[in-house]
Amino acid sequence: MKVDELSSLLEFDRRHVWHPYASATEPPPVNCAVKAAGSVITLADGTELIDGLSSWWCVAHGHNHPRLTAAIQEQLQEFCQIMFAGFTHAPAVELSRRLLAVVPEGMSRVFYADSGSIAVEVAVKMALQYQFSTGHGSRTRMLTVRGGYHGDTVGTMALSDPDGMHGCFAHVLPRHIFAPIPPVAFGAEWDDAALAPVAELLERHGEEVAGVILEPVLQGAGGMRFYHPAYLRGLRELCDRHGVLLVLDEVATGFGRTGKFFAAEYAGISPDIMCVGKALTGGTVTLAATLCNERVATGISKGAPGRLMHGPTFMANPLACAAGCASLALFEEYDWSEKVRGIEGQLRRELAPAASLPGATDVRVLGAVGVIELEQSLSPGALMPFLLREGVWLRPIGRYLYTMPPFVISASELSRITGVMVRIAAGEGL
Ligand SMILES: *Cc1c(COP(=O)(O)O)cnc(C)c1O
Repeated sequence: MKVDELSSLLEFDRRHVWHPYASATEPPPVNCAVKAAGSVITLADGTELIDGLSSWWCVAHGHNHPRLTAAIQEQLQEFCQIMFAGFTHAPAVELSRRLLAVVPEGMSRVFYADSGSIAVEVAVKMALQYQFSTGHGSRTRMLTVRGGYHGDTVGTMALSDPDGMHGCFAHVLPRHIFAPIPPVAFGAEWDDAALAPVAELLERHGEEVAGVILEPVLQGAGGMRFYHPAYLRGLRELCDRHGVLLVLDEVATGFGRTGKFFAAEYAGISPDIMCVGKALTGGTVTLAATLCNERVATGISKGAPGRLMHGPTFMANPLACAAGCASLALFEEYDWSEKVRGIEGQLRRELAPAASLPGATDVRVLGAVGVIELEQSLSPGALMPFLLREGVWLRPIGRYLYTMPPFVISASELSRITGVMVRIAAGEGL
């Protein structure tokens, strides 16, 4: 791209194009990407950045994997989009077949949505409608844990950490019930007392609660915490005891990120409803899905209205479904768990030096997720010149400096990421 072309593009962008979580009048700096392949994003000026975030956790097999782009191109020859009411197509059926073969036991129905937030909205509607249709219309609230993140739509904001980034909407959101952050860390010694607060809340409010929703094992954007899977086992039992559905939001954790294909596998439980998104298409085209078991599906389908009242325009988009099929096929072909174990080991070794730094309060690693928790919040905009110089792409969330690299990342690329993280934790880069 020519220099004046690039500056006019960036100028128009600054004036008219809104970016995530950004001010319109003082927009943060952005980089113009022109290409991405494997772990590397290339900018208009030729700068190469190693993508330490899998572009918001979705590009599991790396950017522009030839198998995924070929699958999209092949589908492109046939048709790009057809309404899903009154039609079906092979990519949607094939993806459902593949998904149902890998998700926790008991899941039997797939509802396609266009983003993770919408998959969570659908999950909540499923839980509410199930209770309504089965004669429990007074169960109108959800219970969740603090420190979670479930999306940015109005419904999902109400389920995300009440002390988190959506605070200015608190006064208009539906009031759900919040239990404390799951108190026992992953790998720490389990204590049944950890379940007492949530058990007590269900004892007190059980009759009002339609479902419990949470991210299994890894709380992502709400604080990058890993908690003990026994918490999920306890919650499964509590939900059954109180007639409450268990909803697992695997939008971030699904497809190998935590070291299991789905994080629920750490607990050996099945939810009643689960959400997947992000890496579902290997990060190529937006697609998400809400899955549920027969109990929920048949419960919703009896009584009035007898049908699940949701239907996105781009439901089961064929290009996205074709990409999803190719991504799941890829997972079967290479040893992703070996790759994730390799990344985990390297993250543990190379982030460990940060633990002794004065500004770092914790260093933790699970699967292909590495986190340095800092005393002070970091500003992504302020860090950017340093990151561009170092050729590494990271974007801290508040005090959490983290990486979730593509599984195909090389050891030397990953070392560049961890090196930069440790230097930032030591106070460099600002
Ligand atoms: C990212 C995320 C969502 C929202 O997904 P979008 O595709 O951004 O709408 C929901 N839940 C979890 C756990 C997530 O990490």
